[in-house]
Amino acid sequence: MAEDKVEEQQWGRVLICGGMNWASNGRKERPPNSASDLLSPVILRSLSNIKITKLITGPSANYAVVLDIFGAAYIFGKPPSPSLATSPDGIISEHAPIKISPSAVGLPKGAKFVSGAAARGHVLLVDDQGGLWGCGNNVVGQIGLPVTMLINQFTRVTGPWSKDPEVKIIQVSAGHTFSLFLTSSGQVFAAGSSECGQLGNGKTGERIIKNGKVAYDVESPARLIQGFEKRKIVQIASGNQHSLALDEEGYVYAWGYAGYSRLGLQDQKDRLVPTLVPHFAGNNIASRAAEILCGPTSSIVVNRQKMFLIAGKFKLTGDGSTGQPYTYFKYIQDSKYSLFLDKTFRANTVQSIVMACKVIKASCGGCTHFLTTPEGDGVMTVGFGQGCLYGELGLGPDVGKSATKPVKIEPLSGVDVIDLAGGAFFSLFLARPDAALSELDRYPEHIGSPTICLACNEEKDDDPMECEKCDSPYHPECLTPPLSEPPEGEWFCPACESQADAGPDDPFEPLSIDGPKPKKKSLTKPPSSVERASTPKSFSSPKPESVRSNGSKGTPARTPTGKRKADSESVHGM
Ligand SMILES: [Zn+2]
Ligand SMILES: [Zn+2]
Repeated sequence: MAEDKVEEQQWGRVLICGGMNWASNGRKERPPNSASDLLSPVILRSLSNIKITKLITGPSANYAVVLDIFGAAYIFGKPPSPSLATSPDGIISEHAPIKISPSAVGLPKGAKFVSGAAARGHVLLVDDQGGLWGCGNNVVGQIGLPVTMLINQFTRVTGPWSKDPEVKIIQVSAGHTFSLFLTSSGQVFAAGSSECGQLGNGKTGERIIKNGKVAYDVESPARLIQGFEKRKIVQIASGNQHSLALDEEGYVYAWGYAGYSRLGLQDQKDRLVPTLVPHFAGNNIASRAAEILCGPTSSIVVNRQKMFLIAGKFKLTGDGSTGQPYTYFKYIQDSKYSLFLDKTFRANTVQSIVMACKVIKASCGGCTHFLTTPEGDGVMTVGFGQGCLYGELGLGPDVGKSATKPVKIEPLSGVDVIDLAGGAFFSLFLARPDAALSELDRYPEHIGSPTICLACNEEKDDDPMECEKCDSPYHPECLTPPLSEPPEGEWFCPACESQADAGPDDPFEPLSIDGPKPKKKSLTKPPSSVERASTPKSFSSPKPESVRSNGSKGTPARTPTGKRKADSESVHGM
């Protein structure tokens, strides 16, 4: 394994918040405030030892795919294909993501999944050989495969570009009934239903079929979008029913459904072909676009000054809502600096108001909008969104779940967030391991684990360290090689450590509720079979006092460095 090369990639640990009750997320009968909602971002324990490079979900996706440094994919939530699910209700528990290695779909050894897109009913992955893989609903050919109800497993998608071995797919985006594929040559292909012009081919193909029903043209395999012949497109983005493209000169094109003026073209006329957005077409190069993204009913552009502009509907009330959408691209509140003028952090970010309206990363979920912006040596994570029911904004337990104006995500204070991804009812953050990250709770907070050192099986005066992932206790001196003192920051037990470096083809061991099997006899009493059967819920019940390690009288156990937040005391001096 080319270890050096692997280490160069930027990676982090997965944080998650929002609705974890995948089967009922978004359903009316589900009471908001369910016990399984996570109101603050927490470390997803099941993947806490895996070096993650990419988060893939979307405003309508009730599931996520994350990629690791070896190019393997991990899926959890309610996957677009029931045959991927691991439980009868069609769910993959976030505590036991399924791992899909590139070789499992037939890619050669060493190939990696590198990016993807997650729509409501279908998911796409791109590999580093330029290949494309799809799975899920394909009833209008939205995956780019011949029309069929469902593509059960990740299946190779080819198209007109496949004829030229030099041309590779480098990015994908997806809405409800369509997908876009961007090639290395800067051209865009579209597959699926053209009902509102989403395919950018100049027509919807609307016609009456039997019984007065209306049908639309379907393109599958994908077809080249016309109009970009002389342009090199470098980025694509899709909302539920519309898309944006960005070319290398910073021009933005919008097409598809225009309800709520989501195309930012000042009207609600659907565009059947990619249409230049005048706002970013000026002579001033600084005002052109650097990044594009789409909310479900909105469009967002980060311009070359790193400013955040939005068009369409992104709120439930007031400006930016159904009755008063932003008909063209505007700064939030129409003022250059207002994005950072919210009272909740005016006190500590006076400097950022003046100098740092700079968006580093941005993402949209179903109701959420997130961005990171420089703060001191690190980043501040900012979010806004109205109508968030499940804690997906991650504002914390003691505040509202929604924010109509951008606010600092306080629970992420000091955490080095390197990527973010909003899902339909939950949010993911990718954070570099450091002291601030170690302050965050893990999820589930408590799991069953042995109580005494797995190496020596003896009680000693000093407390054993506990593995970040599985809570297995080890004395520093009992490790091979022995440690003189507990390491700073993250520590993983030998089993979790070796799994982290196992590579793409090794099976992924899900987080064990019972904890790892001790090498010798242990006093740990395994949870009852009833507890085991009710997977996610049993996690939320606190670990009984009797099985808590360290004999620490109920203080949350962690490494002896005491970094685990023992109570609500904050170490952030803000
Ligand atoms: Zn020991
Ligand atoms: Zn472990």
